[in-house]
Amino acid sequence: MQYRRLGQAGLQISELSFGSWVTFHNQVDLSSAKKLMSIAYEAGVNFFDNAEVYAEGHSELIMGQALKSLGWSRDSYCLSSKVFWGGPKPTQRGLSRKHVRDACDAALRRMEVDYLDLYFCHRPDVQTPIEETVRAMHELVLSGKILYWGTSEWNAAQIAAAHGIAQQYGLNPPTMEQPQYNLFHRDRVEREYATCYAEYGMGTTIWSPLASGILTGKYNQGVPPDSRLAVSGYEWMRKELESEAGQNRLAKVQDLQVLARDLDMSLAQLAVAWCLKNPHVSTVILGASRAEQLVENLKASDLSQRLDQGVLQRIETIVQNRPPLETAY
Ligand code: NDP
Repeated sequence: MQYRRLGQAGLQISELSFGSWVTFHNQVDLSSAKKLMSIAYEAGVNFFDNAEVYAEGHSELIMGQALKSLGWSRDSYCLSSKVFWGGPKPTQRGLSRKHVRDACDAALRRMEVDYLDLYFCHRPDVQTPIEETVRAMHELVLSGKILYWGTSEWNAAQIAAAHGIAQQYGLNPPTMEQPQYNLFHRDRVEREYATCYAEYGMGTTIWSPLASGILTGKYNQGVPPDSRLAVSGYEWMRKELESEAGQNRLAKVQDLQVLARDLDMSLAQLAVAWCLKNPHVSTVILGASRAEQLVENLKASDLSQRLDQGVLQRIETIVQNRPPLETAY
C-alpha cells in the first residue's frame, strides 16, 4: 500500500480506503463487517469512510462495533463521517450550526470514538450561510471532536467562498473534498477543481471508482439478482443504466474489458488503478459487498504501474470523455 498526503495537510492516508455505503445496511452482520474491514486494514488501508445517512445511522453503529471488537489502536487508522441528512425534521438536516454539532455528537456516540479524523459536509446547503457552516466546523476542530473538515460535491465557487471566509476570520478552512470520480465521471475532479488544488492545496477522497459496479463488466448481460442495481431503493441506478447514456457506457465497458485482459488484470482493477494515476486523488474509496471483491480491488495499487502513457491513451480512445482544459488566451 502506498500512502499519500491529504492535499497539503500532514496526514498520510492510504491511497486505497474502504467505505460502507449500501454494504453496511440494516441486515449486515457484525462478522461480515469485521471481515471486510480486516481485509482492508491488513492490506494497509488506514481510512474508513462513513456518513450519518448511511442506513440511517446503522452503518456507523456497525463500524463502531467492528472497530471495538477488532481492537486496533486508534492512532493506526482514520475514521470519517458526513453531515447533511440526519432525519426528517427541519433541524435534523443541512449544515446549520445546530445540525453540524448534533450530527457530529451522534456519529461519535454511534461509532464509540472520541474524535473523527475527517468530517465532511455531505452536500452544499443553500439554506445556510457558508460562514455559519465554516464557523461550526472550526468550532468542532477547536473542541477536538474532528481533526480535518471537508466538503462533498460542493462546486469550486462554494469551496472558494469557504476558504475566503476562513482566511478573513482566521478559521480552519476545508482540507479535502469528496467527489465522485471514475472513468465515466471526470469533469469536476479534472477540470473544475484545478484552481482548488493550486490555490488551496485541496485533497480529494474520491467515491464510486467503479460507478457502483458498472466498471466491473457485471452488468453487461443484465442485472444479477445479488448485485447493487437489484437492491430495493436503488431502482434509479437501474433506470440510469437502461437509458441511452447507460447503454453507451456498457458498450465502452466491453472495450475496456478487452484492454484489461491485455494487461492481465480485471476491469475493476483497471478502473481503480486509473483513478490512482491522478495525482490530485488522495485516496480512492473502495466499496465491496463481498470479501473476494475487496481482495481483487486492493491489488489495483500494485497493478497501477502497468498503466503507462500508451495504456492511458488507449483508455482515452475508448472513453472519449476527457474534459477540455481551460483556454489560455
Ligand atoms: P464502487 O463504485 O466501487 O462500487 C462498489 C460496489 O461495486 C460494491 O459494493 C459491489 O456491489 C460492486 N463491486 C465492487 N468490486 C467488485 C468486483 N471486483 N466485482 C464485482 N462487483 C464489485 O464504490 P461505491 O459506490 O460503493 O463508493 C465507495 C464509497 O464511497 C462508499 O462506500 C462511500 O463510503 C463513498 N461514497 C460517498 C458518496 C458521497 O456523496 N460523498 C456517494 C457514494 C459513495 P454489489 O456486489 O452489491 O454489486
